[in-house]
Amino acid sequence: MDKIVSLCKRRGFIFPSSEIYGGLGSSYDYGHYGVLFKNHVKAQWWRSMLQERDDILALDSAIIQHPQTWVASGHLAGFTDPLVDCRTCKLRFRADKLDEAQCGRKPSKHPGETPDCDLTDARDFNLLFETTVGPVKEEGSTVYLRPETAQGIFLNFRNYMQFGRKKPPFGIAQIGKSFRNEITTGNFIFRTREFEQMEMEFFVPPDQAQMWFEHWLEQRMNWYVNLGIRPDHLQLRAHDPDELSHYSSATSDVEYRFPIGWSELEGIANRGDFDLQAHAQHSGQKLEYVDSASGERYVPHVIEPAAGADRALLAFMVDAYDEDEIEGERRTVLRLHPVLAPVKVAVLPLVRKDGQPELAAEIYRELSEQVQAEYDEGGAIGRRYRRQDEIGTPWAVTVRQPGAGAIPDRRAGRGDRAAAAGAVALTEAQRRRVTSMLTTSDTVAGAGRCSARTSTLWAGSSVMLHEPSAPVVPLAMVLRGPPERR
Ligand code: ATP
Repeated sequence: MDKIVSLCKRRGFIFPSSEIYGGLGSSYDYGHYGVLFKNHVKAQWWRSMLQERDDILALDSAIIQHPQTWVASGHLAGFTDPLVDCRTCKLRFRADKLDEAQCGRKPSKHPGETPDCDLTDARDFNLLFETTVGPVKEEGSTVYLRPETAQGIFLNFRNYMQFGRKKPPFGIAQIGKSFRNEITTGNFIFRTREFEQMEMEFFVPPDQAQMWFEHWLEQRMNWYVNLGIRPDHLQLRAHDPDELSHYSSATSDVEYRFPIGWSELEGIANRGDFDLQAHAQHSGQKLEYVDSASGERYVPHVIEPAAGADRALLAFMVDAYDEDEIEGERRTVLRLHPVLAPVKVAVLPLVRKDGQPELAAEIYRELSEQVQAEYDEGGAIGRRYRRQDEIGTPWAVTVRQPGAGAIPDRRAGRGDRAAAAGAVALTEAQRRRVTSMLTTSDTVAGAGRCSARTSTLWAGSSVMLHEPSAPVVPLAMVLRGPPERR
């Protein structure tokens, strides 16, 4: 995990928040590449929910909702974690996650593992963040930052029945920030107090709940695998009956083999009709489905896949992280699936003269109309390739002298400076070729194995299209199976 944290900081993915004031524990800021990367993770989630099926609608509800929401949902009374204090080191820990925490005196041990640890009995600690609306703190002004996005969906169920004219089974999906006053944070962005969730509530006829629960277990496992996570680094774990939340009749976690061990990436729960019934009772509104033709009415049951955008990003990053050695030099490569890569293509003039920067800039401008591209002319070509490798850029276009010796191999990490002396402008046809290869959706989705085409297409021209450093999957496999790993 230390290597991931240091790469994230070094390459501007994620920084500790408020660093100039000494930092604020487990609060993080996403930098340029982190923003691009997380946007791609969220875009793929939206795509799987909205574009690839026609039974789900989108929502973006408020973070601060009516405080009754949290009475009805059970969060005010029961959204607690068991808290223990250590009388020796004076730190507080979550009793059921001691294996994720470090002992205050011996960080290599978990709390309770040394003879000096003196833990109190566990007591309940409510995780809701409380704040006040309006200028005066008075009765009725207390509100809460939402601890999950799901409740906003239930509050809008009636709106969707009217405007969406959907009949169960159908879903409502949303992505947004959630806040939990976690007792033990840590392990980088795995557990923070402010995080983004990607949640979908799927409303079904009660007798179909089990079938849809199984459907979503399969769909959600496939989502991670299709985006490059190695299947043997993923597992489904069904909750034991005593572990189930108050609303759930069945929950399974998608777990990933993080460096801290197998841990939850996403929870998939059968929430039954708990939420709609509770909000109907507290609001006095009818929250049910009525079939206008047959008059049939019922309260739908809900299947909920609830994922974390930050945890997903961390898993994609851990799984893609690789190091290799080229001629005695160690290199870090993020073998991200191309759809998740922050930058899709880097355009690099081999040298900063002979018209190469101008030509590269022109190609860059053309490509960046279609995909996230980056232009880089500073420093040795090998170092520039390595910079792109570290941020997971799958393709690189290098502008160089035509027909002069070997192609600088991106994987070898070294440029062929001697060969550079005057670039030749691309023909119109060649330019179109570069643009279409890099911008057609199937290529960006990983359909083209550029290496196979490199020599035939570009040998003798002034532009080299380099082999992706990432796993490349044929489009058909994007939907079906895991990407190849080198
Ligand atoms: P955990 O057992 O790890 O506390 P949870 O079961 O409480 O998680 P859910 O309420 O099911 O989590 O939330 C759905 C998803 O939201 C989680 O699978 C995770 O990806 C994400 N998530 C929850 N809490 C956090 C957090 N504190 N920091 C980052 N992501 C989180």
